[in-house]
Amino acid sequence: MELLKKKMIEEGAVLSNHVLKVDSFLNHGVDPVLMDAVGKEFAKRFKDQAITKVLTIESSGIAPGLMAALTLGVPMVFARKRRSLTQSEDLVTAKVYSFTKQEENTISVSGKYIHGGDNILIIDDFLANGQAALGLVELAEKAGANIAGIGIVIEKSFQDGGRLLREKGFRVESLAEIESLEDGIISFKQSKAE
Ligand code: 5GP
Repeated sequence: MELLKKKMIEEGAVLSNHVLKVDSFLNHGVDPVLMDAVGKEFAKRFKDQAITKVLTIESSGIAPGLMAALTLGVPMVFARKRRSLTQSEDLVTAKVYSFTKQEENTISVSGKYIHGGDNILIIDDFLANGQAALGLVELAEKAGANIAGIGIVIEKSFQDGGRLLREKGFRVESLAEIESLEDGIISFKQSKAE
C-alpha cells in the first residue's frame, strides 16, 4: 500500500535491525486519513470472506481494526492486556509474550462478544514473531469462532511470525512487508498486488 509505505519512509525511525518506530501515525499519534485507507484496503482484501467480527488487541490494533470493521459493516472487539474490574466472569484468556515490552501478558476477551458462529478477521499493527496474532487466534478458537484471516498493517518478513501463521494455514494479508531494517534503511518486499 503506497500511502503507508510513503509514511513509513518519511516518518518512521529505524531503532535497530529489528524495530521500526512509527509513533507519528500508528503507535501513539494516529493518522485518521491513513487509517481510513488501511481499513478500506483490509475490507477489500477480505470482502468475500463473510466476516462477522474484527478482533484486535489494545492499543495499537484498535485504530486499523476499527476502520476495517467500519468498512466491512461489522463490530470490532479488542482483547485487553490487563484485566479490568468491569470485565465479566465469562472471560476467555491466552498468554502472549510481548516483542516490544519483553514481558508476558495474559490477554482476554469476554465470551459475550465472540462466540461460535463468528467468522473472525484478526487485525494487528505489526507482525514480528507472531505471538500477538497467535494469542488472538487462541482467544477466537477458545470462544468457538472461526478465523477467516489475519490482516497486518506492517509485517517484518525477516522475523518468523508470517511463516509460522501461513504454515498453520491462516491467510495473512500485510499492507507493507519489510524485508530488512539493516543499516537504518527500510527495505520493502515487493508484494504480489504491486
Ligand atoms: P509479535 O507478537 O508478532 O512478535 O509482535 C507483534 C506485536 O509487537 C505488535 O502488536 C506490535 O505492537 C509489537 N511490535 C513488534 N515489532 C514491532 C516494531 O518493529 N515496531 C513497533 N512499533 N511495534 C512492534
